[in-house]
Amino acid sequence: MTEDSIERIALVTGGSRGIGRAMALALAEAGHKVAVNYASNSTAAEEVVARIIETGGGAIAIQADVSDDEAVGEMFSTVHAELGPPLILVNNAGVARDDLLVRMSADAFDQVIETNLRSVFLCTKLAMRAMLKAKWGRIISIASVAGIVGNAGQSNYAASKAGIIGFTKSISKEVGSRGITANVVAPGFITTDMTSDLPDDVKTAAIDSVSLRRFGEPEEVAAMVAFLASENASYITGQVISVDGGLAL
Ligand code: NAP
Repeated sequence: MTEDSIERIALVTGGSRGIGRAMALALAEAGHKVAVNYASNSTAAEEVVARIIETGGGAIAIQADVSDDEAVGEMFSTVHAELGPPLILVNNAGVARDDLLVRMSADAFDQVIETNLRSVFLCTKLAMRAMLKAKWGRIISIASVAGIVGNAGQSNYAASKAGIIGFTKSISKEVGSRGITANVVAPGFITTDMTSDLPDDVKTAAIDSVSLRRFGEPEEVAAMVAFLASENASYITGQVISVDGGLAL
C-alpha cells in the first residue's frame, strides 16, 4: 500500500450540493470515508452518500448548521462515533447575500460572516485535536476570487473569504511542525446552484472576464482539493490556489 492509498476520514461541510458534492465524491474515490455535512437538504446529502456506498466506499450524511457552536460540536461527536476522527477537513459550506454596501443590512453581513468564516474557526478548532495526536492533517478551506480581488455587491462575502485566507495562513504557521497542512482553494465562477440565478447578461460578462472563456465545473475544483488532501501535497501549506480559469490575474 502506498502512503497515498491510506484510508482516512474526511469531513466535507456543505457536501450535499455543488462543489462540496463533487469534493465528497472525489475524496471517496481516493479511498477515504466521507462525512457529508448539509444544512437542510437531506435528500441531496443522502444521494451523495448512496452514490459513495454504491461504488464500495463509506459515507454518512450529517445535518448541522456549521455556524452554530453546539451543532458543530454534535457533528464532530457523531463523526467520531460513526466513522472516526476526521483528519481531512474541507471547510466548504458557504452562502452569499449580495447587495451594495449602502443597502446591505447588518443581518446580511453577519449571516455571511458566520456561515462562511465563523464555521471555519469552529470546525478547524474541533478537528485539530485529533490531527495533532495523529501528527497528520489536511485542512482545506474554500474561499473565492472575491476574497482576493474583491467584488462590488459582495463586501460581506469578500470579507468572509479574505478572512479565511488570513486564518489559514496563521494556522498553517501554528501547526506546520506537527505534519498538518492548511491551504485555501479560491474558485472563480463555477456552475452550481449558487451561480445558477445570475442574470444572463451578468453570466456573459463573467465569461468574458475568464481567460478560458467558460464557467468551471465542480469537479475541476474537487480535483485540486483531492490533490491537496493527498500525500503528494505534503510540502504545500499556507497557500491560496485559484481554480478560476484565469479570472483573477
Ligand atoms: P451551493 O451549490 O449553494 O451549495 C452550498 C452547500 O453549503 C450546500 O451543501 C448547503 O447545504 C451547504 N450549506 C449552506 N449553509 C450551510 C450551513 N449554515 N451549514 C451547513 N451547510 C451549509 O454552493 P457552491 O456553489 O457549491 O459553493 C461551495 C463553496 O464554494 C462556498 O463556500 C462558496 O462560497 C464557494 N465558491 C463558490 C463559487 C461558485 O461559483 N459556485 C465560486 C467561488 C467560491 P444544503 O444542501 O443543506 O442547503
